[in-house]
Amino acid sequence: MNFELTEEQKRVQARAREFAEQEVAPVAREADERGEFPLHLVKRMGELGFLAGPIEPQYGGSGMDYVSYALLCEELGRTDSSVRGFLTVHTSLVSLCIRDWGSEEQKSHYLPRLATGEWIGCYALTEPNAGSDAASMETTAREEGDSYVLNGEKIWITNGISAHVAIVFASRDRSARHKGICAFVVETDMPGFQRAPMGGKELGHRASEHVHITFKECRVPKSALLGAAGEGFKVAMSALDRGRLGVAAGAVGVAQACLDASIAFVKDRRQFGQRVADFQMIQATLADMAADVEAARLLVYRAAWAKDQGLPTTKATSIAKLFATEAAMKAASEAVLMHGNRGYSNEYPVERYYRDIKGLQIYEGTSHIQRLIIARELVGHAR
Ligand SMILES: Cc1cc2nc3c(=O)[nH]c(=O)nc-3n(C[C@H](O)[C@H](O)[C@H](O)COP(=O)(O)OP(=O)(O)OC[C@H]3O[C@@H](n4cnc5c(N)ncnc54)[C@H](O)[C@@H]3O)c2cc1C
Repeated sequence: MNFELTEEQKRVQARAREFAEQEVAPVAREADERGEFPLHLVKRMGELGFLAGPIEPQYGGSGMDYVSYALLCEELGRTDSSVRGFLTVHTSLVSLCIRDWGSEEQKSHYLPRLATGEWIGCYALTEPNAGSDAASMETTAREEGDSYVLNGEKIWITNGISAHVAIVFASRDRSARHKGICAFVVETDMPGFQRAPMGGKELGHRASEHVHITFKECRVPKSALLGAAGEGFKVAMSALDRGRLGVAAGAVGVAQACLDASIAFVKDRRQFGQRVADFQMIQATLADMAADVEAARLLVYRAAWAKDQGLPTTKATSIAKLFATEAAMKAASEAVLMHGNRGYSNEYPVERYYRDIKGLQIYEGTSHIQRLIIARELVGHAR
């Protein structure tokens, strides 16, 4: 067993770290405060070869392996979950989905544009009455001649304001449940595609674009189908299976950032005539955090490695997402506590890590759903 990264993986990690520290970190707090995504970073991520990391070079990608992709997501997650979230939706849920399920025409039309950041992608699955139970979706796709006509609503769609293209899931036969679902690549300027920011102020990921999409007699050509008619549920689940790896890696980054910030703070802060770092209770907390970060990182790298080997990865990816997001949630909570009143203000980044991390436990399948997936692999489906 070799735990050493390859030279190429180390290069991706170093490039991602430099970009995150020099270009993301200086704008992250202000973007969070203003609730605006720093869109200038999108083209930059395209130039650096990040937006289409694992996509083959013939479609404009960098052809990186999944371990490298996990390292990239970890480094971005360490600095800002809104930027990491942008990347994983755009790349894992949109580009890789088109790469795996698209026709040659769809791949050559969309992938190069998504790789440079000329176009932005979003993934529209969740609905007001269909979250974890995606197969119960109410959005419909009516077949009419050479077209499908979409009607329905999607909510919480990340990247949705700026997106030029959306992967949309709709049912052509609701009584067939998951077997009735179709996936479409929809260009967002189609008549009948309407979007508006979600109401309310988010707990975290405040720089991300979260959108409510309404389809009103939105007519798309049959060539917009991604995969065959009725295969949409498989398309959706395979995208999430891949997407979860990026989320899990992002969570490792958040946990590491919490640990780094806490160590720096407690070494500097003095109370009762000594460094806070010298209290044993604080040391025990730091040691537990460090053990969790390492364990989460190994689970993520192992799931990425298994993907690179072409092995089945559903259980490994769900275990990685479950463990890493729970570990990062715990780390963020402890980090705020160790910072005392300073951790309660956005003067220090741990406040943002604490708000952002909850989202990672919810999207791309909540922690409950990850447990369900893992348990199904252990004991099979109920008859
Ligand atoms: C920041 C953010 C970004 C998002 N981005 C996107 C996006 O880009 N595209 C998109 O399509 N969606 C997106 N979502 C939506 C997200 O994927 C859903 O919120 C998530 O899948 C859960 O669905 P729900 O919120 O409707 O919860 P529900 O499904 O209503 O669940 C409510 C609670 O019940 C639990 N539960 C449900 N079923 C079971 C079960 N069988 N066993 C045990 N517990 C269960 C859940 O775990 C949860 O705790 C985003 C959400 C957030 C917060």
